Amino acid sequence: MAFAIPLFLAFMGAEWWYARKSGKRYFNFRNSVSNINVGIAERLLDTFTTGMFFFVYQYLYHHFALFHFKPSVLQWIALLLCTDFVWYWYHRLAHEMNIFWAAHVVHHQSEDFNYTVSARITVFQALIRTGFWSILPVLGFTPGMITSMLLVHGLYPFFIHTRAIGKLGFLEYILVTPSHHRVHHASDEEYLDKNYGDVFIIWDKVFGTFVEETHAPTYGLTKPLNSHSFLWQHFHFYLELLQGVRQTQGLTRKLKLVFGKPDLLDPAIRPRLEERYLLRNDMVQATRRLHDYVVIQLVVMLTGLFTFLLLEHYVPVVVQVLIALFIFITLINCGAILEQRRWVFYLEYARATLLFIAAWYFFPYAVLLWVPALALPMALYYDARLKERYLRLVYGRV
Ligand SMILES: [Zn+2]
Ligand SMILES: [Zn+2]
Repeated sequence: MAFAIPLFLAFMGAEWWYARKSGKRYFNFRNSVSNINVGIAERLLDTFTTGMFFFVYQYLYHHFALFHFKPSVLQWIALLLCTDFVWYWYHRLAHEMNIFWAAHVVHHQSEDFNYTVSARITVFQALIRTGFWSILPVLGFTPGMITSMLLVHGLYPFFIHTRAIGKLGFLEYILVTPSHHRVHHASDEEYLDKNYGDVFIIWDKVFGTFVEETHAPTYGLTKPLNSHSFLWQHFHFYLELLQGVRQTQGLTRKLKLVFGKPDLLDPAIRPRLEERYLLRNDMVQATRRLHDYVVIQLVVMLTGLFTFLLLEHYVPVVVQVLIALFIFITLINCGAILEQRRWVFYLEYARATLLFIAAWYFFPYAVLLWVPALALPMALYYDARLKERYLRLVYGRV
């Protein structure tokens, strides 16, 4: 799976180059960084959860399988259709039930539509989706077949997140094409809650959720999020839902809200929560340095993730956890920098601490203790001056 990263990046690069050449505004720097950041976190956490799900499938297959299919061409076709059918319902429920929408909403926050949006999947969404696949081993498909199919089935949606490809002739009748998926990401009234399919468009046609792209869509949520905060993007709807449940009287009504549609939620909740958790900043124009700093971090993270996925089985668990934590802090850092927060400075201390622990893991010599013994008092003494210099360096102002 590690090699999917350079492949996807190559496609993103080609699309960006095409957009630039033809003068089309497909990419916004902040949005693209946010999209890729969400994807990095998901890929990273997936390495810890994928193996777990293989065992779940194995358990279900050995204890509850209704049939025992042997791999054959016909079985593979049946599995592809079943997987796609389960996807349709998983995706439709992800839009129609608040408890699932809380995870899926992140995929729809982007107001751009390009290949970077396909990376915008959270680990929560991946977990829910994998839960839905549990029906497949019960039907009798072997865990080995299922994981191979999910790999292929999971790669396909990447290619439908683009505005660079128009309509695809007769394929429009069979497959989910970029045109169909553009409609799915639109916030226009007539496009809302349509085209849920992943590989085949047939399910939408059967269940009456198909709409053809007749005009250029407006992308994003009907109520845009307007935040690049990594944490807020992930958790805002869970908090909104929690608040909604709290202020609803009676168990039946509470359950109705949790399993009901997003429009049941009081729209006044989000602005109230934003005021409490999301201190608004007067955004100034992004400076060249801020831009460069974010790009450098992104390159380091992507290289780190690629190496991590490639060498996963050879790296001790302690180091895996340290790398994962380092990448997470960097993701929060990038989001906060785009929002021009001042507390990003303190995240640098957290990263330095992780680097020290990693160094200590490989070289547990007493002499290394001199590093924090000297650095800590100096950092405390020069804290204000360091912070000022750091903020000026990154934001071009204090
Ligand atoms: Zn969706
Ligand atoms: Zn999508």
